[in-house]
Amino acid sequence: MWKEGVKCAVALGFDIDAETLWLGPFKQDTPAHLARGAYGPQVGMPRIVDMLDRYHIKATFFIPGWTAEHYPHIVEELHAKGHEIGHHGYLHENVSRRTKEQEEEIMQRGLEILQGITGEKPVGYRSPAGGYSPHTLQFLLDYGFTYDSSLVGRDEPYYLEVEGREEKVLELPFSWELDDAPHFLFSFVPYHTGLSAPSKVLEIWRDEFDWCYREGGYYNLVCHPQIIGRRHRMKMMDDLIQHIRGNADVWFATHREIAEHWLEHHPA
Ligand SMILES: [Zn+2]
Repeated sequence: MWKEGVKCAVALGFDIDAETLWLGPFKQDTPAHLARGAYGPQVGMPRIVDMLDRYHIKATFFIPGWTAEHYPHIVEELHAKGHEIGHHGYLHENVSRRTKEQEEEIMQRGLEILQGITGEKPVGYRSPAGGYSPHTLQFLLDYGFTYDSSLVGRDEPYYLEVEGREEKVLELPFSWELDDAPHFLFSFVPYHTGLSAPSKVLEIWRDEFDWCYREGGYYNLVCHPQIIGRRHRMKMMDDLIQHIRGNADVWFATHREIAEHWLEHHPA
């Protein structure tokens, strides 16, 4: 499945939703909610960058345009360090509830903002809140994305048919089990229990990895700096990375690297 000497591919992805999570889908614009969002870029991100530096891992950061506008230095730093920057909407909009015109505007705006900071057009897309419209796949082709990472239909990368088009979209699936939000995100409105013990989540994430390794598969972890960036969860992430690194021939790669490998070796 992978290149010579690689048994299993691991992609670490961080969605820097910041305040957009609260302003967008949760519709909570109070100072208290915004402070929770700001914790991600301001406190969680330095910890995450430090961890990736320590283990020499390149990761992918999916960033809403609003976050990039308000924290451009973070986008610049990540890009300079060789991490991948992906598209994640503007204000974390769920495009399944927008018109086709609005969705295209969000698509263009996010691209322009990220490209304006890094000088490079993002090649990866992750839909905010897992929202998909009947037009999303068309837009991904129209705007030249290499891959999408928003759906959960398989364990390994796969191709999506696009109505009326010959080209297909490469999907790098994620899973809610390997997403920090359902496990940890606490909120009164809308109510989310969250606040799982890290030992419980580490058990799930470690066992997912162990079986993935056995199958020689692809492991796609989805984290959010405002959630995973809390101290006890960073310790858990560190433990997880050490566990993964204890196995031979693991390829820590950005989503883009995995997509490029897949397109070349497993074409549609
Ligand atoms: Zn998000």
